[in-house]
Amino acid sequence: MECVFCSIINRTAPAEIIYEDERIISFLDIRPFNLGHTLVVPKYHSENLLEVPVVYLTDMFRSVQFISAAVVKGLNANGFNVLSNNGRAAGQTIYHCHIHIIPRFDTDTFKFQMNLKSYTNGEMENFGNKIRSQLS
Ligand code: 5GP
Ligand code: ZN
Repeated sequence: MECVFCSIINRTAPAEIIYEDERIISFLDIRPFNLGHTLVVPKYHSENLLEVPVVYLTDMFRSVQFISAAVVKGLNANGFNVLSNNGRAAGQTIYHCHIHIIPRFDTDTFKFQMNLKSYTNGEMENFGNKIRSQLS
C-alpha cells in the first residue's frame, strides 16, 4: 500500500498544502504541536533522512528555510523548532522522510522533555573519535 505522504503527493489523499514545486511538497501536520505545524516532504519516497538523494536534500533544506520564515511571519510566532525523527527509537511514525517546522510562542505551554547527560573524563574525545571515524 502507498504511504500516506506519497498519497498526498499523488493527490489521492487530501492535505492543506502550503507550498509545492518540482521536488518538494509542504503541508500542515494533521496533529500539530501548535497550530500551523508544517511538514516539508521530498516528492520521492525514501524512508528517512539518510536515504534522501542529494538533489532532493538540497531543495528540502532550502524550502525549510523559506517556509519557516513564512510560518513565523504568517503566525506572528516568537520562534520555531525544526526537527526530523528518524527511526522508531526517535519517534518516527511515517516512514517517508520529512522535516517538521513547529511555530513556537512565548506563551507555549509545552516543552520538549530533555534528560541531559554529562560526559566523564575523556569520554567526549572518545565519542568524537567514534563519529569522526565514520565520516567519508
Ligand atoms: P513523525 O512522527 O514520523 O516524525 O511525523 C509524522 C507526522 O505526520 C505526525 O506529526 C503526524 O501527525 C503527521 N501525519 C500523519 N498522517 C498524516 C496525514 O494523513 N496527513 C497529514 N497532514 N499529516 C499526517
Ligand atoms: Zn512515501
